[in-house]
Amino acid sequence: MGRKCFISFKTEDESYKKCIQDNLNINMIDKSLNEAIESEDEDYIMRKIREDYLCDSTVTIHLIGTRGSEDLGLEEQIFVKRELQASLYNGKGNTRNGILGVVLPGMITSVFRGSYTCKKCGETHNWVNVNDSTTIKEFSINYYLPGNDKCYYGEEDRYCVIVGWDDFCANPEIYIEKAFKKRMSKISEKVIVYPK
Ligand SMILES: [Zn+2]
Repeated sequence: MGRKCFISFKTEDESYKKCIQDNLNINMIDKSLNEAIESEDEDYIMRKIREDYLCDSTVTIHLIGTRGSEDLGLEEQIFVKRELQASLYNGKGNTRNGILGVVLPGMITSVFRGSYTCKKCGETHNWVNVNDSTTIKEFSINYYLPGNDKCYYGEEDRYCVIVGWDDFCANPEIYIEKAFKKRMSKISEKVIVYPK
């Protein structure tokens, strides 16, 4: 069995989580944050989510569905946001998780928009529509990390890994490993746990 994974998903996407659980040979923790942790101490909240939910996982598989955008509001996304923050959090006794965004079938055409010819360099770049209209900020900001002065984002410029549902199901371990390796990569120094 490969890396231990935590799955972060919205209730309406539970069937996909079950599908992963039942059909793919993934070493996963079957837990989900479903109540607020009351504290003024942000470090305590992060530690508590790690201890009680994420446990010893090293990769968080984040399911990106049709109800997963930042634009839908904080109340709608509070649990997934907390799960991703705790995943990104490097605390005492834990190292942050790699983040693998799996784009569910209903979101494929909204996220993967094909390619375009760049006005700056004349090359072809892929258009991956990751922003507040498709994902929560915890994912989008660590996918398109600020401070990149190139006209595109290469693999080394992103912390989050993204893959479409079918590709993920065909080769889950490849993408899980890719997300796992990001934890030790240079770009991990730029991770943002609490995006504004
Ligand atoms: Zn370019």
